[in-house]
Amino acid sequence: MKYWGYLAAKVIVWLAILGAIERMIARAFPQPLNLSRPSEVTTYLNYEFVMLLFGLFAVGLAWLILWDQRYRCRTCLRRLRMPIQMGSWNHILLGAPRTDYICPYGHGTLQVPDLQIHGHDQPDWQPHDDIWKELEALSETKE
Ligand SMILES: [Zn+2]
Repeated sequence: MKYWGYLAAKVIVWLAILGAIERMIARAFPQPLNLSRPSEVTTYLNYEFVMLLFGLFAVGLAWLILWDQRYRCRTCLRRLRMPIQMGSWNHILLGAPRTDYICPYGHGTLQVPDLQIHGHDQPDWQPHDDIWKELEALSETKE
């Protein structure tokens, strides 16, 4: 719930930023344009170029939001760390190459496949149990 709430908050901030920029663009290019005059055509082309840049900025910012969200812990929202390469490119049937990320507080592991043979594979989030309970259980079995 916290994970999706954080994404919703980022989307709301994204929409607010885009709305502010759109208002600035609307103020800079007053309507309507009379395209029969050459100076108005230049203004129209400038407006189209600014709107093209605005669209690219909006899509880029959305991509950045989703990319950031993908590499966050589902429990504590911290950035996942310690990427480690698993599997092998030479033995893709026995262990396909992937990159594993882990939460610094041990909440879970994200496995991102590096090999996309049959379309885009979604990353696999595997939550961990309490790491201290696992360590205690491990130390009790050794005694
Ligand atoms: Zn975490």
